[in-house]
Amino acid sequence: MTVRSSDVDRQDPALLLEKVFALEERKGFQDTAVTGGLAALLARNAGTWLTARPALAATLRRLSELLDDYAALAPAERARRIAAARQLLTAPARITPVQRHRDPGHAQHAIEARRRDGRQNSQPAKTLRAPAISSLDDPVTILPGVGTQRARQLEALGVYTVRDLLYLLPRRYEDYTQVQPIGRIAHLFYRTGSEEIRCTVIGEVTEVSERETASGRRLVHAEISDPTGTIPAIWFNPYVARQLRPGMRIALSGRLERQRAIVCFRNPEWEPADEDLLHTGRIVPVYPLTRNLYQKQLRQLTRAALDAGLHLVIDPLPEDTRKRYGLPSLPEAIGQLHFPESSQQAEIARRRLAFDEFLALQLGLVRRKAEWQAQPGNAIPIDRARIDTFLRSLPFALTNAQARALDEILEDMAQPRPMSRLLQGDVGSGKTVVAAAAALAASASGYQVAVLAPTEILAEQHAQSFRSLYAGFPADARPAVALLTSSTPERARQEIEQGLRDGSIQLLIGTHAILEDWVQFQRLGLAIIDEQHRFGVLQRATLRAKGDNPDVLVMTATPIPRSLALVLHGDLDVSIIDEMPPGRQTVQTYAVKSDMRQRVYQFIRKQVTEGYQAFIIYPLVEESEAIDARAATVEFERLQREVFPDLRLGLLHGRMRPAEKDAVMTAFRDRELDILVSTAVVEVGIDVPNATVMLIEGADRFGLAQLHQFRGRVGRGAAQSYCILISDSEGQEARDRLEALVHTFDGFRLAEIDLQMRGPGEFLGTRQSGMPDLRFASLADVVTLQQARREAERIIEIDPELRRPEHRLLREQVRRFWQSGAGDLS
Ligand code: ADP
Ligand code: MG
Repeated sequence: MTVRSSDVDRQDPALLLEKVFALEERKGFQDTAVTGGLAALLARNAGTWLTARPALAATLRRLSELLDDYAALAPAERARRIAAARQLLTAPARITPVQRHRDPGHAQHAIEARRRDGRQNSQPAKTLRAPAISSLDDPVTILPGVGTQRARQLEALGVYTVRDLLYLLPRRYEDYTQVQPIGRIAHLFYRTGSEEIRCTVIGEVTEVSERETASGRRLVHAEISDPTGTIPAIWFNPYVARQLRPGMRIALSGRLERQRAIVCFRNPEWEPADEDLLHTGRIVPVYPLTRNLYQKQLRQLTRAALDAGLHLVIDPLPEDTRKRYGLPSLPEAIGQLHFPESSQQAEIARRRLAFDEFLALQLGLVRRKAEWQAQPGNAIPIDRARIDTFLRSLPFALTNAQARALDEILEDMAQPRPMSRLLQGDVGSGKTVVAAAAALAASASGYQVAVLAPTEILAEQHAQSFRSLYAGFPADARPAVALLTSSTPERARQEIEQGLRDGSIQLLIGTHAILEDWVQFQRLGLAIIDEQHRFGVLQRATLRAKGDNPDVLVMTATPIPRSLALVLHGDLDVSIIDEMPPGRQTVQTYAVKSDMRQRVYQFIRKQVTEGYQAFIIYPLVEESEAIDARAATVEFERLQREVFPDLRLGLLHGRMRPAEKDAVMTAFRDRELDILVSTAVVEVGIDVPNATVMLIEGADRFGLAQLHQFRGRVGRGAAQSYCILISDSEGQEARDRLEALVHTFDGFRLAEIDLQMRGPGEFLGTRQSGMPDLRFASLADVVTLQQARREAERIIEIDPELRRPEHRLLREQVRRFWQSGAGDLS
């Protein structure tokens, strides 16, 4: 039997060579294990192997030195060489080069000497043999030492397969690369005066003892010596005493601490110094843990997963792409992610994995966009004169930003491909009038328009806004507007059904009732969706299906930074209204503690006495509408009974029936109520220009964007308005957030601050948005994101379905990525 050359390509070089050497031994060192001989095998394949396992470079070099003249040697010498070669493969070949300290010192030499020794030492190394695995999707139980119990612990981390383990992101790293001679440590400690010195020493255990502290904890004490000195180490882990023996050579890494006059290690990481260093003397990964699973074990597991599976990792990125963006290969990145050679390498590795994530994300989004736009849509002829007449009929002129957005939309509508556009603008920036103008353009050309709102109240408000915006426009040219919500009576529904079919209704405004099957348009040309984040892609698709690929305009009042827009709405073109209509007042904003509450109540009373109205918002106490509703109800009753017995209060919460909510909102709008008490789950996106106070309880429980939305509910009329944030949170972050709101009134700016403070996961509310989780990518990686976007566009352009063989792996990656979240991209 010889080793087939097809194996050479597929296998991990180390495993393959091990096989070859074993065979050579069995055949009695005749140099017949591979055709052409061992030296030739190495010469032929060194290049390929190096590419696959750059970390093997040193080993491969030494191997060829050892085996160069193999063919010419006597069998006895050959046996010695093979033994040495096998030693090389099993010995600590993967020791990460320890970063050279400016003054290498004794310990540094020691580590290097040890490394040299390890190579020549003929004792078999203890390294666990990598098991043969055939797929990265093999369960973790295939790894040595992983039984059902360990597997269950790993499941808690979301790790089921070898692949999951390879992609397990360290929470952070500990830099233990600084190796010090023990004799210098005290000096180092006192000279820098820093409490935060981390370093590594290598030495012999000279003493181990165990005792009980005054507080009854078991304490293990050890002395470690090298030729320059001795240092104590203590652990509050009795287990250590069972493993440490005097005479052992160990490497210790950790934080130095002073105990009285003596510097010592407290709970340092340690491991025998004659093994491959995983926990000390290097940049050490710190993983997320679960009960009964320890860092050391997890490191050994990722090491085992790398040994067993890294050779199966194939890079889906073409080399030229990698070159263009300066990215390492995928196997390299995964290796460096766990056991990086330096902090920079760890960051480079993370960036590579982030790129892949962004790429999978963008490939999905760009493909979806391309798919939609590949379908034939309606080229809606735009009657510009009619639009201008409409705009002139308004009591105000459009802002430049509104005019620009409208132009972009109209131009898009005139194209034969279906529009997929996002209209983004802060609360009160005037999106509705832009939408109304677009709707008018469509209806003027004989198309129908659907406007989808997230709640009944908002749908009604839209219907009213549209009607009043069209009011100054010649009656014969006004589009006919109908409203459809779940509380629309049956008879009206029949009329709507009829009107939609015969085309007498041109604008249908409503809630998701619009998505029901019976709603059939004669000729739907434009679908406008408000508050996009509440509707999934699926609803968008349903709405689309009601027409012949109608143009779609999505409106959102949640300003998001551009980088995020690319992530969240990467399948849409974006128009932004980044300018407020003139004369808008600034809502005076105050962040106060609850000891001010009585004064705030007095202030509200004063405003009400002057004829204005107020909102009081209660936060989400629990993740349960029922509980929140109860909390708000209790507060409402207290306020009505004890604080404002003479005022008219209304209550709004998520457990009320739509008709009830509606009645309360309407009463508030019509000034039949002075104060509206509400939970956050209720959309308060209604225009009540007479409301001047927005009081938000437990303000730290809301995101910045949401607080800004609440604030946008006041300041809509002429009177000075106020937003008061009550919070007793001492948390720095919470205080910072509220402080940002006090001083910043620009929604985009606030969104950026929010993103920075809370990170994208919370900012987006990933679960709700239908976005898969980003694990490696951070939305601060704007450049990487843009690169991935560009790459995705390039790839989809040449291979829209990712059908080409060279894109097979990418396609798989895209599928896996979108499956990981609530993504509904098939
Ligand atoms: P958004 O939907 O973006 O929150 P709206 O469209 O509801 O904002 O507009 C808020 C208010 O501003 C409305 O009363 C609207 O009539 C008014 N408005 C819109 N555009 C302008 C403008 N260019 N100049 C003055 N007022 C405007
Ligand atoms: Mg609005």
